[in-house]
Amino acid sequence: MSQNEFSKGDLRNTGMALKHDREWDYELDRIVEAVHERDATKVGLQFPEGLKRRGPKVTDDLRELLPEDVTVMMSGQPCYGACDLDTYMMRRTDVFVHFGHSPMKESEKIIYVPLFSNVEVLPIIEESLEEIEGEEVGLVTTAQHMNRFEEMREYLEGQGYEVHTRKGDDRLTHEGQVLGCNYASADIDADNVLYVGGGKFHPLGLAMEHPEKNVVIADPVNNVVTIADTEKFMKQRYGAVHRAMDAEKWGVIFCTKIGQGRWDQAEQIVDENDDAYLITMDEVTPDRLRNFDMDAFVNTGCPRITTDDGPQFHKPMLTPGEYEIAVGNEPLDSLEFDTFHGTW
Ligand code: SF4
Repeated sequence: MSQNEFSKGDLRNTGMALKHDREWDYELDRIVEAVHERDATKVGLQFPEGLKRRGPKVTDDLRELLPEDVTVMMSGQPCYGACDLDTYMMRRTDVFVHFGHSPMKESEKIIYVPLFSNVEVLPIIEESLEEIEGEEVGLVTTAQHMNRFEEMREYLEGQGYEVHTRKGDDRLTHEGQVLGCNYASADIDADNVLYVGGGKFHPLGLAMEHPEKNVVIADPVNNVVTIADTEKFMKQRYGAVHRAMDAEKWGVIFCTKIGQGRWDQAEQIVDENDDAYLITMDEVTPDRLRNFDMDAFVNTGCPRITTDDGPQFHKPMLTPGEYEIAVGNEPLDSLEFDTFHGTW
């Protein structure tokens, strides 16, 4: 996880779980029912990073409810999203439970338990109204606050706003939902977008995708209202592109995580550039790339690895769009936030 200043309150590690200790609803009944229905003997549990510490207690509770011959195991793999299912565990268990994210793709095999935040959202929305210009506003939030989406909409309507919402694309489960790699739900016909949630990168991506809109951030976790400002972030990205312009040898990363693979993009780069080398890996970390003798890397996996953790890699790490700029195929001003639109 990045330690740089951009990642404070980053929802990839569901930081809100740590700030607001609570009893989550792990929906154990649903899991027990599936075990009986499937005559299961192996149950696999996958938690996102911020909730892993709760794993043993959930396992204990399940063991008490399940027959003795059922083995309950936890995934030790890193997990940052519904794109990041432990497929090894999935294949070797009869019931596989993914906690903390809404489904990216429905499957009979997987039980998704979303774990919504219990944080009140209306006080910070009330404070954010000062920043909204005019009477029309688009409303978006992250999966963690989705349980309060209707409450948010009704409040805004009650204040006289015309609220615009939409469900982006297949990568998203809910109307108004955004991911760190997908802001399609904000493609609405309003000059303002109100983003309700924590983290800095979601609204930054949103602001870069929609530079013509006023993106207001109401963060109910840290209790602050801000306006998305992309300048500092853009400087960081232009810096990386400039440093990569002289690169001769490129490492092109294809991520093997089930919902992060962009094969066509990776393959195209390697097809067109004899000095580009395809590297396949699941977790993309600075340590794992250090021993490769490359001048720069292109990451076709999770866009947030490039933007959040980019500065920690020993060589410039670019998004596919930034690569095109660095090698001279696209102009400098075509720099955009990297987004991801498929499932798997
Ligand atoms: S690929 Fe998208 S959904 Fe998956 S961890 Fe990255 S930002 Fe989140």
